[in-house]
Amino acid sequence: MRPKVTRAALLREFGAPLELAEVPLPDELPPGSAIVRVRTTTLCGTDAHLWQGAMPFVALPIVLGHEMVGEIVALGPYAGQDALGAPVEIGSRVVWSESVCGHCHGCAVLREPVLCANRGYGFSQRADRWPFVIGGLSEYAYLPPGAHRVVVADDMPDTWAASAGCAVKTVVRAFANAGGVDPGATVVVQGSGPLGLVATALARAGGAGQVITLGGPSGRLRMATAFGADTIIDVTAVTDSDERVAMVEELTGARGADLVIDVAGGPTVNREGVLMCAQRGTHVVVGLAGPGAAAVPMDVVMSRELRVVGSLNGDVGDLVRALRLLTGLADRFAWDALFSDPVGLADADSALKDMATMAAVKAVVDPRMEIS
Ligand SMILES: [Zn+2]
Ligand SMILES: [Zn+2]
Repeated sequence: MRPKVTRAALLREFGAPLELAEVPLPDELPPGSAIVRVRTTTLCGTDAHLWQGAMPFVALPIVLGHEMVGEIVALGPYAGQDALGAPVEIGSRVVWSESVCGHCHGCAVLREPVLCANRGYGFSQRADRWPFVIGGLSEYAYLPPGAHRVVVADDMPDTWAASAGCAVKTVVRAFANAGGVDPGATVVVQGSGPLGLVATALARAGGAGQVITLGGPSGRLRMATAFGADTIIDVTAVTDSDERVAMVEELTGARGADLVIDVAGGPTVNREGVLMCAQRGTHVVVGLAGPGAAAVPMDVVMSRELRVVGSLNGDVGDLVRALRLLTGLADRFAWDALFSDPVGLADADSALKDMATMAAVKAVVDPRMEIS
């Protein structure tokens, strides 16, 4: 009954096609662990970057995918309850947070799971070492102990639940770290990818008076408008960073924005983000600046009394709030527009390509689909 192996799309070599292969599953299940049949994996920009070799220090082979929802098919002893007290049983449909160790400085002293030194992030697990598969591009995956589980409500689509696992929870945490949206505040969202679109929606729903979203290509910017942006700025058309700052200045009556959220990453984004801030404004950094980043003008940080705040992914609390956000705002925003039609594991390559070329906002893989 319990599967001993799983079919998975393996990343063996950066940039090369994924290889469909059989990978073992753990023989024995430690207390608190489980085996999950993956129902849906939504891809994240990080999956595409990793595949393209942007993180060459990651040891291969691995199974990509860290936004997924699945059904419990086997449980270790002490299965217990989910993070909200609901029973976790065979057949429960769950999402889960990255596992944490509970005894490092981040866990024990700072009590911030995202800062755990031993966080079980998808790409940290080699597929040729126990427990083999914790990624989502696989028919079955191991759910480690120390990963908080959340049983998903019956009426929540798999795609929504999966995307809460990285994209949506990351946005939720970024707003929390920023201290929320002041009523009527001006919010600038740097980026119109999945995080940018969710951030645009959350700014709008959170009571912003004005929402300005920067990004591209144009299809994504049209979506940003549908997700609540008053103004969109196409960075492929307005390529000069200072010109974009001037546009935000003009749109805000020379005052600047109260909250500027970087979900784009890139070398000029944080300099630009700080320059777009109003006095006492906040710049939240979610994106990766990468090498060769432009200097952030600290004299502006000082003279305007700005706050520059980092935000890293999300913990199980952010995950729970992400699920609530999707449900709570379902009547207001067409979340389904974020997701492409699902493909099977054999087409996971093309799904990754769609992420890399921005053809998809969120490519979707359903490992249950037949492999032809
Ligand atoms: Zn991600
Ligand atoms: Zn830890």
